[in-house]
Amino acid sequence: MDRLKGKVSIVTGANSGIGKRTAEIFADEGSDLVLVARRLDKLKEVEAECAAKGVKVISVSADVSIYEDCQKVVKEAIDAFGKIDVLVNNAGIADKHRPITRIENDWWDHVIQVDQYSVYYMMKEVLPYMEKAHSGSIVNISSIGGVGCNAGISYSAAKAAVIAMTKNVAIQFAGTGIRCNAIAPGFIATDMTEKQGENKLLAFVPLGRMGQPEEIAQ
Ligand code: NAP
Repeated sequence: MDRLKGKVSIVTGANSGIGKRTAEIFADEGSDLVLVARRLDKLKEVEAECAAKGVKVISVSADVSIYEDCQKVVKEAIDAFGKIDVLVNNAGIADKHRPITRIENDWWDHVIQVDQYSVYYMMKEVLPYMEKAHSGSIVNISSIGGVGCNAGISYSAAKAAVIAMTKNVAIQFAGTGIRCNAIAPGFIATDMTEKQGENKLLAFVPLGRMGQPEEIAQ
């Protein structure tokens, strides 16, 4: 308890799955929160749940694949709290798992924009405030698909890019008090994997069970 007391954390994709559990655990640990996703009604449910734990929470409806929306998120965070200590870049979408020859170029663009550009946009907007504070922690949610590159081609490319951007930012800010790390989960039981069919996915899981959002959020 209280490991994040006095901190302000932005969590994207906070109304579902890994992001929702992250928001709940951060609230348990005392962090004030800026919750981000497109569906405001679902975000408000998480906001109420986290606020009941005694922390301050705002919700910002934003599409993180759009640069101006990311600028809006950071502005609202600064207006409300005056600082940003933690950024969890978690929002993301799954791929269609189609062969490259059957991928529509629009779909490629869409996955890259949501799963890759969003991480770049949010880090670019948040880092000036962390630089001024000489302190901050960024956690980017990549995927095992970004390591083994065995998910859909656009998702694999985006999640590999998330790892590359994470390393680059960690190197750029080494020794400044700002840390940047990535997590590459395997299959976790969320809305994303439910849509893909758990039984089909379990065939690829050596552990023999789906991971839980809690295990990534912690
Ligand atoms: P989820 O339950 O489907 O949640 C996805 C979240 O992202 C939702 O809150 C969604 O809210 C938000 N989101 C999607 N597109 C967005 C956009 N354009 N702008 C803002 N928010 C957006 O999925 P999850 O499984 O928790 O996934 C979370 C992260 O973990 C993703 O980056 C995913 O790639 C990664 N991951 C998941 C697994 C897994 O097995 N579940 C494995 C490896 C990595 P709205 O729809 O309201 O915007």
